[in-house]
Amino acid sequence: MKKALVLGGGGFIGSHMIRKLKEENFWVRTVDLKYPEFSETKADDFIRADLRDPAVAREAIDQKFDEIYQFAADMGGAGFVFTGENDADIMHNSALININVLEACLRRNSKKIFYSSSACMYPEHNQSDPLNPNCEEVSAYPANPDSEYGWEKLFSERLYLAFARNYNFDVSIARYHNIFGPEGTWQGGREKAPAAICRKVALANDNDVIDVWGDGKQTRSFLIVDECIEGTQKLMRSNFSGPVNIGSDEMVTINELVHKVAKISKKNITINNIKGPEGVRGRNSDNRLIKQKLNWSPIKPLSWGLEKSYIWIEDQILKK
Ligand code: NAD
Repeated sequence: MKKALVLGGGGFIGSHMIRKLKEENFWVRTVDLKYPEFSETKADDFIRADLRDPAVAREAIDQKFDEIYQFAADMGGAGFVFTGENDADIMHNSALININVLEACLRRNSKKIFYSSSACMYPEHNQSDPLNPNCEEVSAYPANPDSEYGWEKLFSERLYLAFARNYNFDVSIARYHNIFGPEGTWQGGREKAPAAICRKVALANDNDVIDVWGDGKQTRSFLIVDECIEGTQKLMRSNFSGPVNIGSDEMVTINELVHKVAKISKKNITINNIKGPEGVRGRNSDNRLIKQKLNWSPIKPLSWGLEKSYIWIEDQILKK
């Protein structure tokens, strides 16, 4: 039986990955500070512990795994990443996790590992035109991410690549672009735009006004978690290391996103654009490299994923 280790398996993407690996008959261990919020974990072994402690990483990585997926990070949406209030924690906690994990992997000669980087590492100056953002993989340098979260991702990408170079690790690195879907955080300050908007629309009555951060003309693309998992495994099981974008290239403005959600809800919603943390002006996944290297890219329309998310969030609200 093949064995996988999912770090951060109490979180959103990690929980979905565990479910997929169990369908594939892997034995799965996970480590996280917390159990999944919205469903029972499917992991065979759940170590509830803090990966900032090197002893925890060593305890979890006590053998050679066929696949290791590293999702653990101190992260959140714009309300968490762009206020500046969490910068020290974001950099310190996530860097320590990655350092400890790699050191423990080296000790056990368990060197096949996936690392989840983020589109937030791309230079701010290439994302100032909302209609023409440049997120081609090679545009990463000279580096100039717009958040400490992005700088930590860039540092850790380089850390994984250095372990590949010097210690013969088989690393895979994806730069995720706004992953969303059922079982993602939808309230409390760490939620991302699609979940926040689905929540606001679900809570609104017909003909209500909802607040939306920024002028609404900032652009993004959003990828449903199912396709994120598919792309991640394709990358992990290929001989290409990346870093490569995993994201949708269906770019929308934030106000267009609201209109799409409103349409799904069948409510008439008016947008009130207010000042709020918003990040770069434009961002879209450039999928040329992933198509070339993996002969794959996401195909599901944004509305398909939004509908799944909206129904799930509506259900969460009803359960409260
Ligand atoms: P998430 O916050 O739901 O999951 C991360 C998990 O890591 C959480 O369950 C958290 O408890 C755990 N964790 C944090 N610190 C820990 C520690 N010290 N020890 C053990 N566990 C710890 O986030 P997610 O959306 O599932 O993202 C997974 C990964 O993908 C993260 O590295 C994130 O930066 C990256 N990413 C996500 C997105 C996205 O849109 N969701 C975009 C780009 C990159």
